[in-house]
Amino acid sequence: MSAYRSPFDRLRQKFEESTVECGHCGYRDTEAGWRVTATGSRVQYQFVCPSCDGVETREMRL
Ligand SMILES: [Zn+2]
Repeated sequence: MSAYRSPFDRLRQKFEESTVECGHCGYRDTEAGWRVTATGSRVQYQFVCPSCDGVETREMRL
């Protein structure tokens, strides 16, 4: 086991600790199930609202 945390890991933790609010219906989820897709230095987070199936997307650059 290594204590090394990559920038990606830290970013992911920040996201997983945050609350997401659906921009379509206002549903709030404190345990957001972000789906993570990394492409090169860009990381895309997708949250599918369990209430209305709306999709929230965030994009981050490492
Ligand atoms: Zn929603």
